Amino acid sequence: TDPALIRNFCIIAHIDHGKSTLADRMLQITGVVDDRSMRAQYLDRMDIERERGITIKSQAVRLPWDGHVLNMIDTPGHVDFTYEVSRSLQACEGAILLVDAAQGIEAQTLANLYLAMNADLHIIPVLNKIDLPAAQPEKFAEELAGLIGCDPSDVLKVSGKTGEGVRELLDHVVQEVPAPVGVADAAARALIFDSVYDTYRGVVTYVRVVDGHLSKRERILMMSTAATHETLEIGVISPEPKTSDLGLGVGEVGYLITGVKDVRQSRVGDTVTSSAKPAQEMLAGYEHPKPMVFSGLYPIDGDEYPELREALDKLQLNDAALVYEPETSAALGFGFRVGFLGLLHMEIVRERLEREFGLSLISTAPNVVYRVVMEDGKELTVTNPSEFPTGGKIAQVFEPVTKSTILAPSEFIGAIMEICQGRRGQLLGMDYLSEDRVEIRYTLPLGEIIFDFFDQLKSRTRGYASLDYEPAGEQEADLVKVDILLQGEPVDAFSAIVHKDKAYTYGVDMAKKLRELIPRQQFEVPIQAAIGARVIARENIRAIRKDVLAKCYGGDISRKRKLLEKQKEGKKRMKMVGRVEVPQEAFVAALSTE
Ligand code: GDP
Ligand code: MG
Repeated sequence: TDPALIRNFCIIAHIDHGKSTLADRMLQITGVVDDRSMRAQYLDRMDIERERGITIKSQAVRLPWDGHVLNMIDTPGHVDFTYEVSRSLQACEGAILLVDAAQGIEAQTLANLYLAMNADLHIIPVLNKIDLPAAQPEKFAEELAGLIGCDPSDVLKVSGKTGEGVRELLDHVVQEVPAPVGVADAAARALIFDSVYDTYRGVVTYVRVVDGHLSKRERILMMSTAATHETLEIGVISPEPKTSDLGLGVGEVGYLITGVKDVRQSRVGDTVTSSAKPAQEMLAGYEHPKPMVFSGLYPIDGDEYPELREALDKLQLNDAALVYEPETSAALGFGFRVGFLGLLHMEIVRERLEREFGLSLISTAPNVVYRVVMEDGKELTVTNPSEFPTGGKIAQVFEPVTKSTILAPSEFIGAIMEICQGRRGQLLGMDYLSEDRVEIRYTLPLGEIIFDFFDQLKSRTRGYASLDYEPAGEQEADLVKVDILLQGEPVDAFSAIVHKDKAYTYGVDMAKKLRELIPRQQFEVPIQAAIGARVIARENIRAIRKDVLAKCYGGDISRKRKLLEKQKEGKKRMKMVGRVEVPQEAFVAALSTE
């Protein structure tokens, strides 16, 4: 294809503002999916995406429009997957910035806009969902125009649901988004912006060609690893893979298959060139995503440990952001310490492990990574709280911090500041985006955000606040390890690292929560919270006196059966810790409020 006829763009927005639905209409209007095969959120191809109604992976599709070739990339909106978005941006010259006309600008609207501006993309501001009775297109067109610095009349108005305005939007993409520029007869250079493992075809590598040409049956060279492979298949996605005998030229977006089995051999951010005529310089790649939170994953049935390892290996083929290493817990046995991009990423990995691999797992409460400097100058990176050194030899402890941005109606400023201050936040600044919408920026410890911060923010602002955060280095903090003891024995999986000022309250709350979560046993179970040798809280789970079934007075059989079934159900998620049966919820008790 002549590069002058190509337009590469992505759709970016806050979560739920309608990216995937707009992508659906584009698939339909351009005719690549016929009405009969159409289904909602067509590009959300993973089961878990469809069930949860969220996009996790970016998806690129080639659309024919008005004599042109449009390559459209639908992106995820959630903060955990920002790195997915920033990768997609590098394959594009333009971005549709979509804003829900009933909601207005939210935190990921801003975050994604800044990413797109940094990538030098042409931005097309669009209000979506104008079919909603609650839509306020005029008001939010003004807000959006103020943000971008354009005229309110330049803001397009569409409905991804009804298709209104979508044709005009496609026309604008053709008119406004710059065509890709590259050197056709130079050595080939293509950027890998995604790499996905497919059981049947091996690794499918998604590329954007910058210079030159990639062909079928060509030896290609991965510039960062110097590995060479043969392209067995090369093509475009529209909306299913279609092989292309002509290969891919300047500005084109497509895929290639080389038969490798591991996404690490086809690394996202790497440059693909021709082995016979290699390019000299690599394209600017991406920073590898760094795991932000860690949690222990243990099979409930210790025999499933090898299966868990295999399952993690398989998932990693497809998810380069997932890291793990084996660890042993005195309480839980053999398992893994797993690093995630955030809590949603953690939930999704866990759910996939259980669903796709049939595993039954115990996960421990997530924690961030601490850097501990000892008095003798030695340094430790602590990803598991139970490995936090005890004793007086610690010189300094550093915790990761974030730059957090909260957007909300201005009536909630007071409530938001109260929550942030309660979590050791430092106000960085505040701006009004319009008369009644304010952007508040804080430095907040990451460890304070991962525990129900977002839930509290939502509930204190009646759902109107949105949050975005990015890593912003580390800070020294006064942190201590709080241990939990059952029957006098510390349970390593319950250890947590907490700010000194909150350690006492934390210990008292945890002991209380555990008393409620751990079922009564045949014997008494004392629970203690301690910092070092100092006990700061205690509770007691009394022994069971009567058989539970005695409560049923022997009469009602069906009720008895139900009770037994319920107990069996509950048992599935129990782990023996010493002599005590502990349910899964107890290990993540720290995550819930009250
Ligand atoms: P994404 O997270 O940005 O990809 O958003 P989705 O496309 O998954 O849409 C989120 C929700 O908004 C879904 O329930 C959609 O049905 C709904 N939605 C999307 N676009 C429109 C629209 O134009 N009008 C209306 N009324 N609802 C929409
Ligand atoms: Mg989506």
